[in-house]
Amino acid sequence: MSNESMPRFDASAEHFRTAIIATVGPASRDAETLGRLIDAGVNIIRLNFSHGTEQEHEATLKSVRAVARERGVPVAVLGDLPGPKIRLVEVEGDGVDLMEGAEVSFQRSCTRVTSADVLGCTMSGMVDWVQTDHRVLINDGQVRLRVMQTSADAFVCRVEVGGRVSSHKGVNLPDTELDIDMPTSRDRDLAAWAVDHQLDWLAMSFVRTAADVDALDAHLKQCAKVSTRPIPIIAKMEVPVAIEHARDIAASVDAMMVARGDLGVELDLAEVPAVQKHLMSICRDADLPCIVATQMLESMIEAPTPTRAEASDVANAVFDGADAVMLSGETAVGRYPVETVEVMRRITRTTEAGMRSMNLVSGGDLELPQRQIHGGEVALTHGVWAAAIDSDARCIIVRSHTGAWARRLSRNNVLLPVLAFADDSRTVRRMLLYRGVTPVYFEELPEGPDLWSLAEREVRSRGWAGDGDHVVLVTGSPVRAGDAAASVVVHRLDAAS
Ligand code: PGA
Ligand code: MN
Repeated sequence: MSNESMPRFDASAEHFRTAIIATVGPASRDAETLGRLIDAGVNIIRLNFSHGTEQEHEATLKSVRAVARERGVPVAVLGDLPGPKIRLVEVEGDGVDLMEGAEVSFQRSCTRVTSADVLGCTMSGMVDWVQTDHRVLINDGQVRLRVMQTSADAFVCRVEVGGRVSSHKGVNLPDTELDIDMPTSRDRDLAAWAVDHQLDWLAMSFVRTAADVDALDAHLKQCAKVSTRPIPIIAKMEVPVAIEHARDIAASVDAMMVARGDLGVELDLAEVPAVQKHLMSICRDADLPCIVATQMLESMIEAPTPTRAEASDVANAVFDGADAVMLSGETAVGRYPVETVEVMRRITRTTEAGMRSMNLVSGGDLELPQRQIHGGEVALTHGVWAAAIDSDARCIIVRSHTGAWARRLSRNNVLLPVLAFADDSRTVRRMLLYRGVTPVYFEELPEGPDLWSLAEREVRSRGWAGDGDHVVLVTGSPVRAGDAAASVVVHRLDAAS
């Protein structure tokens, strides 16, 4: 067959897209650096609500929107709710040294630490919830204590791994059930702010069960005075109990984040890679976008190039089907925010291209996933993939009002790029999280043949397809609830057009 030596997908074409999420902070929130981050390949900006005030976030948001408008590219903004993160209270001076084997008492009334004998933290209820034998981990798990004895207003721990602890260091309690309402009151305020400011995605930290997500959902609806969820929710998977409930949580959110920072403290570090794969497979089954986050290019906080292991980590996330890879400290406080994004983009693009050519080298047919029984929309989605593969289509083009069709089509495991048209700029920004989807905004979208001419012009001008190539065009149609319908056209680009 003459086709056999030709790549199905052009390995040099840059149109398969794994999203890059960059957290902004002091190193990057000025308009100039934001612009450079976006030029370097950032699709989604993360506002980390654990730091800064609403006024500061407002200023950053304005800059992001302005810079994106100036450049005429869609940029989504993700707000990240802090959740019930526990921290030490103020510690005098440079901190105190906890010595291995020593006894330390955590006291409800302690608001300032002045010696290594008595500590206090920001969540006073902690004294009521911890039990004998529970672990108390400080500063990313570097200092480890175990509870020996509890009383009404304090608990005593033995230091198992010593070290210095200083002001506001994080405290993790992997064994303790926190009896707190989620979302926290701070989360509720920030969620209201996110609704007011029309953020594109909202991440919820320390989700435990689907009930936590439902509570945030109810709050968001109340804030927006609407009956459908006004901002899609991302569950940050970072505590062991959430991993147990991952399938239930997947059913109630719009995306998941493998939040490896806290996960690596709450769990044995050695378990994190397997949990990452497990969560990614749950997302795949649930047709949900999945974000891989934290320490992806950590060494670039200080250095202009990453380690080989970090490059491999980013690439493996892409190989495993991540929709997005995320940068935290690297872009928020690092010395090389722009360079980090450039490196990340080079790795994702090179990996995507490699995956396309490896499909050929290994000689494996591009196959549809083995699946069981599905609802109409998923079944139709598989039909579209089959049509695209059998016609050797260069890409799928979809008109998507809410982004749902683009999201489903993006779940293909054959790296078929999706060009998604929408006449709603928020839908466009949300679609930036979907792997392989390139969203394009149009103020008005035509119907029928005019839509197909527009699609043809777009793919030609992007160099995605040329004379004689096929593309598949999809438009979902509204039907009775429970039914599914779409118009699917396998379109050949003629030399004359
Ligand atoms: P954080 O979440 O940066 O808000 O802690 C990510 C993580 O824990 O990995
Ligand atoms: Mn976290």
